[in-house]
Amino acid sequence: MSNLPPGVTQRMIDEAYGWDAPCAVCGCAEAECVCPECSHCGTVGDPRCYDEHGMEHTPEQLEMARLNARTDEEGSHPHTEDGESW
Ligand SMILES: [Zn+2]
Ligand SMILES: [Zn+2]
Repeated sequence: MSNLPPGVTQRMIDEAYGWDAPCAVCGCAEAECVCPECSHCGTVGDPRCYDEHGMEHTPEQLEMARLNARTDEEGSHPHTEDGESW
């Protein structure tokens, strides 16, 4: 896990990874993720936990997801979260 090339710190990897792969639940970079740990499998920020493990979104997650979705609309494809009606 720690076979990093010289000059490359874990922090650099974390930052790069964070920008490439924002949290799928709250939309934040990994370092800023506000998602709690799933009590069922221990994973953080996995949408499946909310579908399959009975996790519920916290107010903070919903707020961050809304903020991140709004920023997203300016550049990339629109994110339709209201597509599925119950
Ligand atoms: Zn998250
Ligand atoms: Zn889970």
